Parts: sequence; C-alpha cells; structure tokens
Amino acid sequence: MANVAVCVLGSFGYDRAAQGAVGAGRALAASVGGEVHVLVIGPADEEAVAAMAAVADRVVLGANQELRDVQPEQALQAAEQLHAAGSGDYVAVLLSNDTYSQEIAPRLAHRLGGSSMADAAAIRMDGDHLLAQRTAYGGKAISIYRLKKSPAVVWLRARGFEPAPEQPSSGDVTPVDLNLDPPRIRIVGREVAAQEGVRLEDAPVIVSGGRGLGGPEPFQELKKLADTIGAEQGASRAACDAGWVPPNWQVGQTGKKVAPELYIAIAISGASQHLLGMGDSKVVAAINTDADAPIFKHCSFGIVEDYKAVVPLLTEKLAALSG
Ligand SMILES: Cc1cc2nc3c(=O)[nH]c(=O)nc-3n(C[C@H](O)[C@H](O)[C@H](O)COP(=O)(O)OP(=O)(O)OC[C@H]3O[C@@H](n4cnc5c(N)ncnc54)[C@H](O)[C@@H]3O)c2cc1C
Repeated sequence: MANVAVCVLGSFGYDRAAQGAVGAGRALAASVGGEVHVLVIGPADEEAVAAMAAVADRVVLGANQELRDVQPEQALQAAEQLHAAGSGDYVAVLLSNDTYSQEIAPRLAHRLGGSSMADAAAIRMDGDHLLAQRTAYGGKAISIYRLKKSPAVVWLRARGFEPAPEQPSSGDVTPVDLNLDPPRIRIVGREVAAQEGVRLEDAPVIVSGGRGLGGPEPFQELKKLADTIGAEQGASRAACDAGWVPPNWQVGQTGKKVAPELYIAIAISGASQHLLGMGDSKVVAAINTDADAPIFKHCSFGIVEDYKAVVPLLTEKLAALSG
C-alpha cells in the first residue's frame, strides 16, 4: 500500500502548519488509496495527539523527553526511526515550513534514499513519482518538480493546504521509544524573540510595509490598521534591513513564505524577491504612489496614493464597519 507520512514537531503541537501538512497528506494518500500516518517528533500534549489521531489513520509518537527542545540532529534521528516504526515504505514524507523541518527535510531524504524539495505549494502523485509545484520568478511562473526517488521528502508552504477532515474513527496511537544519540551540540543559552499573535506563516491576514514608509514610526500607523482587522504585520527586506522592524517580519525569498487570505502591501514596490514570499496569497491589495510599481501587476485591489492619505482613512472606515 502506498502510504504517506507527515512529520510534526511535538513541541509545536497540531498548529495550522501541521494541520495543512496532514491535510495535504490525506489528499495525497487518498489519491493513491493509501493511509496517512503522523510521525510526532518529541512530546506533544494530549489534546494535540488526539486532534492528530482524529484526522490520521495512525499516529506514531516519539515522545522522548530529550526532544522537548528541538535539536535538528536528534530530530533527524527521531524522524528516521519513526519512519521505520511507521510503515517504513512511504511514498512521501511531508513536513511543515518551520526552520527545523526545513533543515531536516533534505537530510532525511538522503538517509531514506529519497529525493527532497522545498516550499511546495501543491503536490500530487504521477505514477510512482511525486510532482511538487511552487512559484518561480516572483510569481511570474509556476515550476513543477518531478522527484526522482522515493520517498519524496517535501516541506510545504504554510496555509497553502486545507486541514484534513476528521475521520469516522480515530487512528491508532503507537508510542515508540526512540534510541537517540546524546546531542552533539550543547546549548549555552536561548534568547526567545518576543512573539505576539500567531506566526506570520500562519496568519490569515497580513499588513506589510516597505521602504516607502520612510522610517519606523509609520509602522505604528500600520499597526492600527492591522489591529483593526486582526492582521499580523510583515515587511519588505528593505524595511527590515533598515532596522525599522525586526528581521523576522521579512517576507520574501530570504524571509518568510506566506500565503494568507489577504496580503496588504503598503509602500512596497513588489520586487521579484518580495513576490516570491507572498505570491501565493489569495488576495493581494497594494497602496503605492507609483502607478507603475510592479506590485500592481500582482494585486487584485490597488490604490495609487500616498499611504498617509489612505491608511488612517481605511483604518477608520474598517473600524466603523467592524464596530
Ligand atoms: C538575493 C536577494 C534576496 C532578497 N530577498 C528579499 C526578501 O526576502 N524580501 C524582500 O522584500 N526583498 C528581498 N530582496 C530585496 C528586493 O530586491 C528589494 O530591494 C526589496 O524588496 C525592496 O523593498 P521595498 O519594496 O520596501 O522598497 P523599494 O523597492 O524601495 O520600494 C518602495 C516603494 O514605496 C513606494 N512609496 C514611496 N513613498 C510612498 C508613499 N508615501 N506612499 C505609498 N508608497 C510609497 C515607492 O513608489 C516604491 O514602489 C532581496 C534581494 C536579493 C538580491
């Protein structure tokens, strides 16, 4: 039977990215008449395990305590052992788009003798091979990759896939005692970046600002708009590099890959590297003084105007609507 495995980091729980990955796994497994198994790397809370069992045919749980703090080397070893404990012959192993999974995916593919691919926005089987799709040239083209070897180990774009529906009966949960080497990296300290709200990759609505804002203060104005519509804030690389906002706000080729329902780009030109990170958004709206800015070729709604004239008014009108 051609089964599909989905790796989930236990400490992340069954978050939106994991839900999308399991949803993608379910659709892929259904297309080949197989099962979807969730391989949980590290301890997860009971509620998350139950939620995964409700949508999967099987949950293989590697709850070793040393995996609580994710260390890529150990997580990789765990993924390999959980893969063997699952059915060991998966046609595809899917991962989410967090940095750990991104690091693990190609190394896991190598260990399993498979092929790897990053940032897939759509996947399907073509005979024995997985076809994975992602946008190229800043959303101007779609590239389709045919992964030569099995299993295809692929990390997926967050929010690019719908969560899996619950099954009539929950899948079995199989605990596995993993045999892990001691970590080769000693963590001497951790600095956790302050994180408010949901991860940018999981946000359904994003308000992003660019260099055209001219400094850090206007991001406060954008925050009012974001708060009014329950959005998270993002930025172009130019704004992050200028130190106006934290680096983890960056959307694009070298930043976060997002696919929200609505992406509002304010004073962002729409360089191909930026488009690469947000080109899969369902709806894009842009505000820019330059009618020829490339972003206007990639948006559903555009306003050619100074953001200072638009953002406060937009915030006021939207607040009135929601109030
Ligand atoms: C290898 C590489 C990787 C990169 N990775 C990324 C990445 O991950 N993410 C990313 O974003 N970029 C990335 N870049 C940089 C990218 O090429 C652009 O330089 C960057 O996206 C530009 O940011 P911006 O649109 O904010 O600034 P600009 O291109 O300077 O655009 C500013 C826009 O603001 C408009 N504007 C000015 N004043 C106003 C106003 N008052 N009201 C409204 N609009 C106004 C202007 O008309 C202009 O269109 C990368 C580049 C390279 C080479």
